[in-house]
Amino acid sequence: MDFKEKIREIEDFPQPGVRFKDITTLLKDGKAFRAAIDTMAERLKDKEIDVIVGPEARGFVVGTPLAYALGIGFVPVRKSGKLPGETVEAGYSLEYGKDQLAIHKDAIEPGQRVLVVDDLLATGGTVSATLQLVNQLKGKVVGAAFVIELSYLEGRKKLEEQNVDIFSLVQY
Ligand code: 5GP
Repeated sequence: MDFKEKIREIEDFPQPGVRFKDITTLLKDGKAFRAAIDTMAERLKDKEIDVIVGPEARGFVVGTPLAYALGIGFVPVRKSGKLPGETVEAGYSLEYGKDQLAIHKDAIEPGQRVLVVDDLLATGGTVSATLQLVNQLKGKVVGAAFVIELSYLEGRKKLEEQNVDIFSLVQY
């Protein structure tokens, strides 16, 4: 299936000069959504993953069906202050300012094999902060998977420097 055909591009969102990749058009197409998740699951099924960790909000939309397809658990990473239990946190830089991500302290057992999942890899900032959280809990990161990779932003380089294998369904 041509997944790119299902992803809408919106000019000048969220700011002038940015060409936003809108996955809502892929998600609302049941056949395309299922094919996207099934294709990712097929590629990842032999990696012996114990648990998927996904940052809010679009990491939930891709990470939970993928976890279901692989028959494994899902752990949410949220902005600071949203999770009810005890958490560990990691800061990361945004284009303007900073943000803080959190994970439940008991969400991952030491040594568990973790796949980090988000909808899109841009600079790699969001996933790097998520990796820090997994590392704090002593999870073993086996890779990171995305629906979309923006190759020109070199997020791949940033993650490969941390020895993280990357899988992406479509590249721009
Ligand atoms: P990074 O942290 O790699 O620079 O940016 C990736 C994060 O920003 C992801 O969580 C993703 O959801 C969001 N993001 C940035 N640009 C886009 C875009 O063009 N489309 C979508 N769907 N998400 C984006």
